Amino acid sequence: MRHLAKILRYLNKQFYKFFFPSNLKIEGSCSKCGTCCKKIFIMIDDKSVFKEEEFYRLQRDILSYRYFAIAGRETSGELYFKCNLFKDNQCSKYKNRPLICRKYPSVDMLKYGGVLNDSCSYKMRARKSFDFFLKE
Ligand code: SF4
Ligand code: SF4
Repeated sequence: MRHLAKILRYLNKQFYKFFFPSNLKIEGSCSKCGTCCKKIFIMIDDKSVFKEEEFYRLQRDILSYRYFAIAGRETSGELYFKCNLFKDNQCSKYKNRPLICRKYPSVDMLKYGGVLNDSCSYKMRARKSFDFFLKE
């Protein structure tokens, strides 16, 4: 039942993505600073992870999360993670890195509450300006 709910949520997202494309886009390229591999925030169903058990459950369900380990907790209580594949300031499995890393940073991630860290050279921009929508 949990899996069916996940599939339906996924199909719902794809539907909206196709028929109502986002006005946001990601621009720039990776400067290889490595920050996003050292302090990772994970969202489950659009919510941050606060409990260790939630993370361990995710690790049991999704193989790629097994590379991550709890690195600390923000003052807000949100857990953050590090990646055990990050060695000598680079990804030791770059060519075979998980899909979540290949897709980083994505508009979806930012739309659902994720933020780019300050050292990231990517930027999120609007395709059409606010003025464009005011004139519509
Ligand atoms: S798998 Fe590689 S790219 Fe992904 S978080 Fe780990 S070190 Fe970074
Ligand atoms: S934080 Fe941004 S610029 Fe730095 S490694 Fe990650 S994607 Fe590249």
